[in-house]
Amino acid sequence: MDELVALCKRRGLIYQSSDIYGGLQGVYDFGPLGVELKNNIKKAWWESMVYENDDIEGLDSAILTNPLVLKYSGHEETFSDPLVDCKSCGLRFRADQVPDKCKQEDLTEPRQFNLMFKTNVGPIEDGDSFAYLRPETAQQIFTNFKNVIDSTSKSLPFGIAQIGKAFRNEITPRNFIFRVREFEQMELEYFVKPGTDEDIHNSWVQKRIDWWVEQGVPMESIELYEVPGEELAHYSKRTIDLMYKFPHGVEELEGIANRTDFDLGSHSKKQDDLNIKSSVSRNKDSNSKLAVQEESGEWIVPYVIEPSAGVERGFLAIINEAYNVESLNDGKSRVVLKLKPHLAPIKAAVIPLKKNNEEMVNLSKLVKENLQKLGLGRIIFENTGNIGKSYRKHDEIGTPLCITIDFESLDDKTVTVRDRDSMKQSRVEFDKLSDFLINIIKN
Ligand code: ATP
Repeated sequence: MDELVALCKRRGLIYQSSDIYGGLQGVYDFGPLGVELKNNIKKAWWESMVYENDDIEGLDSAILTNPLVLKYSGHEETFSDPLVDCKSCGLRFRADQVPDKCKQEDLTEPRQFNLMFKTNVGPIEDGDSFAYLRPETAQQIFTNFKNVIDSTSKSLPFGIAQIGKAFRNEITPRNFIFRVREFEQMELEYFVKPGTDEDIHNSWVQKRIDWWVEQGVPMESIELYEVPGEELAHYSKRTIDLMYKFPHGVEELEGIANRTDFDLGSHSKKQDDLNIKSSVSRNKDSNSKLAVQEESGEWIVPYVIEPSAGVERGFLAIINEAYNVESLNDGKSRVVLKLKPHLAPIKAAVIPLKKNNEEMVNLSKLVKENLQKLGLGRIIFENTGNIGKSYRKHDEIGTPLCITIDFESLDDKTVTVRDRDSMKQSRVEFDKLSDFLINIIKN
């Protein structure tokens, strides 16, 4: 973990937020390369959900949330962790995460602590006009259920996908970006007919594993955890967690839950007409019937299967898998981030061999411009004048290709292309460079 943290800071992937004022605990900023990797992870997820499945639609809902949403979702009452204070060291911990150094007899009885952030809305701070910062992106998917059906004419089964910020006032944020107070979630709510939920749940578990494998997180590093009854969230009938072997231990990367008809049922009006199977509290405030009508005329509330993954935890797992220290023939070693090319923050670096050779520099800029137009992601022109140093840097940040423009390039319209993983160099003609790069990034 220490090596990853150092690499992230050194190369501009992740910084401590508000660092110049001593930071803010559990909050991080993503630097020039971090934002690229994060965007590429989100893009890969979005494409695999929304673009590859015509039965899934996208959504981008607000972070500020009407308290009634989180009242009826059950979060006001149950979204809390038990908290204990250690009388010896004076620190506060989640009851299931007390460090070994604290003795059992020094701990207070656990108290419930709600994890939601509240913020004042409007000019008057009277305690009544507040909103929550959403603790999960899912709730606004449920509150928009009817809007999406009405505007897209979807029928069951169908899904709504969303990527966005979530906020939790974690008692003990820790392990770098693993447990933070501000993070991003990639959530799908997949609505199905009751009775088909168990099979569809299983199929989503497999689809999600396959997706992580495509991002460079191999099956051998993932364990399935069947969440036992007493640990299930209040809405869940069954949850399978994908547990990843993070540098600090095996912990949850993604949860795939069967949320039943709890959420739609809770947020719906006219609950008595709807055959709701889960136990929901009476809703006196909703103005929408969150149900679908069968051909028989009967109303049913769909069950929902939810794969929910954290972008930061995915980021950490992906760089942990990609990080390699390799010994070289000359006795030295190199750090290389073997990211899948579609995730790499920079797809190719174009480097003139001589920093002050105008012809080489101009040709390099032209090559950069042409490759950039392919829309594969960021291509950079880099004029450091030190090829060896550039190669080392691009190995460390996972750039799949370095393209060097040298004296020969000026004569014969070819460039030297160096492959990150094999370090092999080959000559490629200008005209074939685009196809060469597309082939590497897309496969
Ligand atoms: P944990 O038990 O680790 O607190 P959780 O079961 O509360 O996690 P969920 O509510 O299932 O987490 O949230 C879905 C996903 O959101 C998690 O699998 C994780 O990837 C991500 N996530 C949740 N809390 C955090 C956090 N504090 N920091 C970073 N990511 C988080």
